[in-house]
Amino acid sequence: MTKIIQLKYGNTKCYLLKGTKKNLLIDTDWAGTLPKFFQELGRKKLKVQDIDYLLITHYHPDHMGLATDLMNLGISLVVLDCQIAYIHQSDYIFQKENNPDFQPINDKHIHKLNLADSRHFLSECRISGTILSSPGHSVDSISLVLDSGEAFVGDLYPQEQVPLYNNKILSHSWKKLISHGATFIYFAHYANEKVI
Ligand SMILES: [Zn+2]
Repeated sequence: MTKIIQLKYGNTKCYLLKGTKKNLLIDTDWAGTLPKFFQELGRKKLKVQDIDYLLITHYHPDHMGLATDLMNLGISLVVLDCQIAYIHQSDYIFQKENNPDFQPINDKHIHKLNLADSRHFLSECRISGTILSSPGHSVDSISLVLDSGEAFVGDLYPQEQVPLYNNKILSHSWKKLISHGATFIYFAHYANEKVI
């Protein structure tokens, strides 16, 4: 059974999935939030060494800001094949705000993973689930669906908003999540909710 721990130390809800072998963090917050990240770990009685992998639902600045900091602390950044071309898409935002805490991701040190191999990768962490490409909010968006039905979707627009967008890509992402057994959705900003 995978344990789900919510970590929030800024505006983004991040989730730590504790497998029985390895632990995987989904998303980080903005660059410069590392001290707050450590405080939140402390509140949850966790250490940075408890985190083996970092998975980023999409490479917007409020989800990937600490990627390099966490890599420097020994956490392995898992990048899906559908995300590789987008890992630097937020660099210009941090450069524009002259953020002294931001370091672009070093491409040489990422752990590349093909979507087709995601079940195998997760099973090695003793987490039963799949990672899917789920575009709609951004092209590089991915979701992790546990076999027990919990799905981590980042900023995918909630189901009740889907008709407003009239976007086939978004509707298809929701169909894919449901066909993979998603029953409860963990968002990064919206309120978590059951699948309708
Ligand atoms: Zn976003």
